[in-house]
Amino acid sequence: MEITKIKDWGLNIDTSKPIVVSGPCSAETEEQTVQSCLGVAKQGANILRAGIWKPRTRPGSFEGIGNKGLPWLKTASRLTGLPITVEVANARHVYEALKNQVDILWIGARTTVNPFSVQEIADALKGVDIPVMIKNPINPDLKLWMGAFERFEKVGITKMAAIHRGFASYHNTEYRNQPQWEIPIELRRQLDIEMVCDPSHICGKRETLLQVAQKAMDLNFEGLMIESHITPDEAWSDAAQQVTPEDFGSLLNDLVIRDSNTQNPAFNSQLDELRHHIDEIDQQIIQLIAKRMDIAREIGKNKKENNIAILQMSRWENVLDKRMKYALSNGLSSKFALQYLQEIHNESIRQQTAIMNETELEKV
Ligand code: PEP
Ligand code: MN
Repeated sequence: MEITKIKDWGLNIDTSKPIVVSGPCSAETEEQTVQSCLGVAKQGANILRAGIWKPRTRPGSFEGIGNKGLPWLKTASRLTGLPITVEVANARHVYEALKNQVDILWIGARTTVNPFSVQEIADALKGVDIPVMIKNPINPDLKLWMGAFERFEKVGITKMAAIHRGFASYHNTEYRNQPQWEIPIELRRQLDIEMVCDPSHICGKRETLLQVAQKAMDLNFEGLMIESHITPDEAWSDAAQQVTPEDFGSLLNDLVIRDSNTQNPAFNSQLDELRHHIDEIDQQIIQLIAKRMDIAREIGKNKKENNIAILQMSRWENVLDKRMKYALSNGLSSKFALQYLQEIHNESIRQQTAIMNETELEKV
């Protein structure tokens, strides 16, 4: 896919460091929008955001100020010299945003889930040269996220980036939206797309913003989108996760930005050596797992001949218990150990099922 990198979007901003998009969740009043934007600009933001049309979970919440908020953002842009971005969810939003010279559009998580909406927006942008940032869909579906990029690619949009804002889950957890970092990492591997992390919507609260933003920087994300409001506790939407421009500034200061690589030869040769070692260990692990599966298949054959079911719960509980203890005493995390053991067990069952049913392994 042909993708134009952020540094070539013609924005006139510093892209030698991670880009930082900030501003309030929603534009509420002219004063609040302009002051919040001036505040974050002073603290180091280089793109300004504000939600104009707000997709709320239930009716009755503040659903955005609408068109009249666009000139407020434009004023903030004029006063700071920074580009502005808004969320668009239908063709009418696109029309209004373009009329008001919005510099960058973004597609919200609740829109990315719906191919009809994405297509409508893409169609409205045919022949328009504007950057589009696409948030991940609410549900952890990599293909749906990729599909959105493909729809814009087909109408000729090449200036694209992804925004990782986490994935909804039914359970209340530490996060408002689970990061599931493996999904943005896989998107970037497949599309070679630049990645902006939105810690505000992942965390849902101020306290953990820094930790998530730091993780994104450690994973070499190209930017951050962080909601900031001049008086966050009084915000009309997402109050708990917004920070004052000053706190936003401190967060940026506290971030450690590491280089993605270096020219230092001593460091590089040591890194090469360690990676070589890891490559070898990975090969050995795969060989050992394959050996373990040979044995599982052998057991499967015996079970088949003796007409015994594949799963014996007491054996599995026993294995799990012993291996978990062993893994923990070897310094592995319980989360990893449990997932690993369950996956090994699933694969054993798959292998034995293939034997029992005399089917191909990939079809189990
Ligand atoms: C937002 O950025 O204010 C927003 C509505 O985000 P999301 O689409 O990630 O929920
Ligand atoms: Mn928000």
